[in-house]
Amino acid sequence: MSSDNTSHSGRAAPDELVPSRYALRIGEIDVLVVSDGVLTLPSAMLAHNADPAVRAAWLDDMFLPPDTFDWALNVVVVRSGGRTILIDTGMGVEFPGLPRSGRLALRLEAAGIDLASVTDVVLTHMHMDHVGGLLVDGVRDRLRPDLRVHLAAAEAEFWASPDFSHVSMPPGFPDALRRSATRFLNEYRSQMRTFETEYEVAPGVVVRRTGGHTPGHSVVRLASGGDRLTFAGDLVFEVGFEHPEWYNGFEHDPEEAARVRVGLLRELAATRELLVATHLSFPSVCRVAVAGDAFRCVPAFWDY
Ligand SMILES: [Zn+2]
Repeated sequence: MSSDNTSHSGRAAPDELVPSRYALRIGEIDVLVVSDGVLTLPSAMLAHNADPAVRAAWLDDMFLPPDTFDWALNVVVVRSGGRTILIDTGMGVEFPGLPRSGRLALRLEAAGIDLASVTDVVLTHMHMDHVGGLLVDGVRDRLRPDLRVHLAAAEAEFWASPDFSHVSMPPGFPDALRRSATRFLNEYRSQMRTFETEYEVAPGVVVRRTGGHTPGHSVVRLASGGDRLTFAGDLVFEVGFEHPEWYNGFEHDPEEAARVRVGLLRELAATRELLVATHLSFPSVCRVAVAGDAFRCVPAFWDY
């Protein structure tokens, strides 16, 4: 199999062998999960408070290699009430050495979604793998001038003076995250619409601040015609079902992040609604089951 048609620098890749998009409907709301690619990072990021042997055993049980982990990078497009809403924007080209990410623009194009048709962007938080897509050269010019960018006020405030004292990231990441967030605030400030606790972006599309991963981290709740789906951003990772108490290296307040994670997973297990999260393996559409004192991710059945 050739990978030529997925070259990072190459324009339009509408003929990718794997389209990397997954459509579903939540009542009247159209939902499209689009992969921005994958981020290959050291496995230790998965759980910096776990016994390395236990972490290695988890990877082995999942048939994964011991040293690096490929993080999925899912973005969601939602259409409701005449609005087209992009939830997070992928990595763009914000960090060197992650050439398999930053595909969002190409994959939106391949899906027939023009950037100029996007009316709203919702940011779960301001890490570069969530805002980077809007910082790629030329993207801003293709967006509508009246685009609204929604995020929690607490998130914008946090990045004015971010605290990295509880994270465990690879070298270079804290500086790069600071730089990207600062650039984003500078470039998009006039279009930002901040909210305190929650905001209804379109009918049945509500962004709600949870905190945890970052102080202004938010999730997006979709509800229409009795169907429900939650986009959990970075509250839930692949290890988070079995080991919700494991601290992810990118969490700025890992204790709070674990507490919020457990609360959300309990709620989703009770409501039986669908879950999609940024870094769960594409397309990540699943339901949450309780398994003893932890959880289980039950993939949704293909029904197209
Ligand atoms: Zn992330």
